[in-house]
Amino acid sequence: MAVLKTLNLNKTFKIRSLKIFAVEDFNIEIDTSDFFALVGESGSGKSTVAKLLMRLSKPDSGRILFKDNDIWQMNKNDLINFKQSIGLVFQDSYASLNPRMKIMDIVQEPLKIHKKFSVNEIKFRTIEILKNIGIDEIMLERYPHQLSGGQRQRVAIARALILEPEILIADEPLSALDISLQASILNQLIGIKKNREMGILLITHDLNIVRAVSNRLAVMHLGRIVEKGQTKDIFREPLHPYTKILLNSIPGFHRRDRKKIPKISTEDKSSWNLKGCRFFNRCDYKMDICRDNIPELKTIEGRKVRCFLY
Ligand code: SF4
Ligand code: MG
Repeated sequence: MAVLKTLNLNKTFKIRSLKIFAVEDFNIEIDTSDFFALVGESGSGKSTVAKLLMRLSKPDSGRILFKDNDIWQMNKNDLINFKQSIGLVFQDSYASLNPRMKIMDIVQEPLKIHKKFSVNEIKFRTIEILKNIGIDEIMLERYPHQLSGGQRQRVAIARALILEPEILIADEPLSALDISLQASILNQLIGIKKNREMGILLITHDLNIVRAVSNRLAVMHLGRIVEKGQTKDIFREPLHPYTKILLNSIPGFHRRDRKKIPKISTEDKSSWNLKGCRFFNRCDYKMDICRDNIPELKTIEGRKVRCFLY
């Protein structure tokens, strides 16, 4: 049983009189063993997914199940349990750190609110998680403005982890930081994950990170998942034309069948309104059927692909 699972999620926004699907027919399932990456260009709907999964936004249709329990039909106790079981980190979550609170207090606040631990236990756990994410004890008495951007993001991650969530949702958590800092924080996160039953959903546009850390992957394009499967399978042989372009855009990443593949570009806004496949305007393989028909996600070679080629 997946800890967190979505069933045919749909979420639309209205822009003038146009109804735009930000997230359409969206299905993923995340377990505590997963390091699941959700990838796509900016504006592909990734952050909308994070908000839906966190119950910060309500889907128009479809369901989100936490341990088989619909998060919009939970009783109060189950809802509290759900919220404690999902940790959340945003790209700029350090902006949400209370500037008047010391690091120690910021990180331990969720424990004080939700758990009846002794003062010593709370302190022990706080120091432990901060240490694991790379914050020295010397920082405990400091305030957010006395920390670097990387340190503040570590503190935000520690706060998200302090209640020992079963799933950590991280929406572009490191993209404001330089590469060596990103690698260091990710390694620490992997270390923490090893010692707990904790699934991670990493929402990102950085494919090098995806390849390095995730075991499962969903590629999102204009609101739809176009390919989903084991990360190593997809990197070995991407099947969807969009995934091929994405992977070939990684500097230094060469596949044998690399051809002249167009540069990745920001999606033409009008593609949201296409009746059929939304990749139609950019696709080298398009066929007549793609213009007016929406491809379904089909199981191909042990993964899911949304394309009429298959
Ligand atoms: Fe290209 Fe058609 Fe596949 Fe869309 S469905 S990616 S247009 S081949
Ligand atoms: Mg985003």
